[in-house]
Amino acid sequence: MINLYELSFDDLVELVSGLGEKRFRARQIWDWIYDKRVDKFDAMSNLPQSTIKRLSEAASLGSLELAARQASRDGTEKRLYRLKDGQLIESVLMPYDDKRKTACISSQAGCAMGCVFCATGQMGFGRQLDAAEIFEQAMIFGQDLAARGERLSNVVFMGMGEPFHNYAQSLEAVRRLMDRLGIGARHITISTVGLAPQIRRFADEGLQVNLAVSLHKSDDAERSALMPVNRRWNIDELLAACRYYVKRTNRRITFEWAAIAGENDTEEEARGLGHLLAGLLCHVNIIPLNPTGGYAGAPAPTANLDRFTAILRQYGVGTTVRVRRGIDIDAGCGQLKTAVLSRNQIA
Ligand code: SAH
Ligand code: SF4
Repeated sequence: MINLYELSFDDLVELVSGLGEKRFRARQIWDWIYDKRVDKFDAMSNLPQSTIKRLSEAASLGSLELAARQASRDGTEKRLYRLKDGQLIESVLMPYDDKRKTACISSQAGCAMGCVFCATGQMGFGRQLDAAEIFEQAMIFGQDLAARGERLSNVVFMGMGEPFHNYAQSLEAVRRLMDRLGIGARHITISTVGLAPQIRRFADEGLQVNLAVSLHKSDDAERSALMPVNRRWNIDELLAACRYYVKRTNRRITFEWAAIAGENDTEEEARGLGHLLAGLLCHVNIIPLNPTGGYAGAPAPTANLDRFTAILRQYGVGTTVRVRRGIDIDAGCGQLKTAVLSRNQIA
């Protein structure tokens, strides 16, 4: 079976003519898939039954199999997929009041980076996803939304995995999000743990895609204890790459800050961070920690975050404190897989 999401338009033309069909059918099929966003061949109503039959014998629409699904009271929807080889990955859809619909997608099954606070890091590395598997996660939300007359507006690479540890496939998926789902580069965000060489490479791509960097600590020894990758590229090297990115692209960088009570929400930490970031075109996104089974930390209390942001303001560094989404449904990265496996709930 050929997965149509793996094909370019030219590949599809070739497939269609190989099946003995007229070449113009390829355009019709492409429009059904990417413009009208139907999820089955039967819905392609301007194709003859014989074409639909031949197509569905030779090809599939996607390769992800839904293994579990959860919906939160706040509208967040989380999905667990089984890949062809049995690996599990997660993606999340977050509807916002301003009509934005943001898909949070995975770039790897598991993750090799080992951040101690992260449920995905705690499970270790499974394998790389290919561009079609990354893209399909957004595609499925796009289909669900299209069926309700809505559109997927934003995509963030903040699910399982480190997108810059799977650079080529992640970037190919970004291109398909832009070309096939019509999502503007400015509505796509790649989040990295801080692979400095790939940040520089990304800066050279000439894309308007947003970059988020997970910083979480302003001191090398302490960051290394939370995020082992810091032993390979320390804060100096990371920030040098970030400065290169800003200079090269003129784009603001977002620093992610998973706020952990007593760990990185103190006055001292705020000053340390302010000192590091003063003068850089950037913004700090503060997200109270989502507690995970393998890490004892707790979310930072709001009072500490108020003090934290006030200090950063003194350094001219802007902040946003995010509301944790889907707290009733294991919405944190890697948490649905962990929860479902421990409840032995997979169908
Ligand atoms: N690997 C990439 C992208 C996936 S993680 C990265 O690390 O940036 C997306 C974001 O979720 C990162 O900022 C990560 O640090 C954060 N994160 C991971 N576990 C978390 C948790 N338990 N609570 C809050 N944020 C978490
Ligand atoms: Fe991997 Fe990101 Fe989790 Fe770190 S925070 S383990 S890089 S997914």
